[in-house]
Amino acid sequence: MSDPKPMAFVDLKKQYEFLREDLDKRISQAVRHFSFIQGPEVRELEEKLAKFTDLQDCVTCANGTDALTLPLIAWEVKAGDAVFVPAFTFIATAEVVALRGATPVFVDVDEATFNMDPIDLERKIKKVLAEGQLKPKAIITVDLFGLPADFWTISHIALRYNLYILEDAAQAFGGEINGQKACNFGHAGATSFFPAKPLGCYGDGGAVLMSDPYLAKVVRSLRVHGAGAEKYLHERVGLNSRLDTIQAAILLGKFAALPEELDKRETVANWYRQKLKRVAWHPIVPEGFRSAYAQYTIRIRADFRATLMEELKKRGIPTMIYYPRPLHLQPAFAGLGGRVGDCPTAERLCDEVLSLPFHPYLTEEDVDRVCSALSELI
Ligand SMILES: *Cc1c(COP(=O)(O)O)cnc(C)c1O
Repeated sequence: MSDPKPMAFVDLKKQYEFLREDLDKRISQAVRHFSFIQGPEVRELEEKLAKFTDLQDCVTCANGTDALTLPLIAWEVKAGDAVFVPAFTFIATAEVVALRGATPVFVDVDEATFNMDPIDLERKIKKVLAEGQLKPKAIITVDLFGLPADFWTISHIALRYNLYILEDAAQAFGGEINGQKACNFGHAGATSFFPAKPLGCYGDGGAVLMSDPYLAKVVRSLRVHGAGAEKYLHERVGLNSRLDTIQAAILLGKFAALPEELDKRETVANWYRQKLKRVAWHPIVPEGFRSAYAQYTIRIRADFRATLMEELKKRGIPTMIYYPRPLHLQPAFAGLGGRVGDCPTAERLCDEVLSLPFHPYLTEEDVDRVCSALSELI
């Protein structure tokens, strides 16, 4: 076989080519008005994102991790509190809990959707209550790879045990359940504008979305050193976690393209689904749900995955493992005493998942190339 040109896993260059004229204009405007900190683009973006998700308030911040942190500070999550998080996600989801001094309690995930398993959630809540050491305080649900979690079931559990829900929608901006947008399913939603996310900027960025005016006021204050009504009056201990004006300008351009990109993501996902129908296990999107498809992740026999990745790489096809290790078995959380077998589905997924090249500008030809290589190898 001839040396094929390597493909991109996420092709931000190609996206830029499509949006160049608009983005360049917005960036140069933002530079020329010199309001680098909290400029007018930041406010405009916040208004647009709140409207899009049908929430009252959007507070942008420095990154998605801070977007998770800010509501936890506002809710006074602290040492002695238990916060329930899925075991199969990016480390940030649990890290923010540990940094507040609280204890992340890892919950297994559902085999079909990769999202938090409500049955194991309730089991873990009951276990914490029975042990009597920690006070259950909040649940952080993750909309993994863009698919919203099972919010109906989880909301009932949260009500029964009087827990906050923080929705980690870092990967899911644009996802939906029956027309209701991701970020809108908990007491607060957090998203990330890391470049490779469905709505990404050209650096770091994030946002908290909510319809609770008190929470919004506190989060807005926490974002800038606990600011009060007057300059140099500080009501609380906060952070410096602002979104740059230039990043907001870029996001306004990307946001305008988002609806079309979300449709394209769905088209690409359907090509993969169709063309690999008999070759691999596919992500399940339950009735009424819409995924923002941050990733397209299939499952491969554990003992064959490394070989497959190697062979695909030789053919110029990059693949990634999101995520190779469940959180309860991360060295960072070794002190919590997590053991193999605590979250068996998460553990199995870590051995089997494989994410394929995915972005809204993939052509059917590109997808064919990946699928024929996979069909040949599997
Ligand atoms: C990316 C991501 C985050 C963190 O976002 P940053 O902007 O990188 O801080 C949190 N949770 C999940 C699930 C993510 O994928």
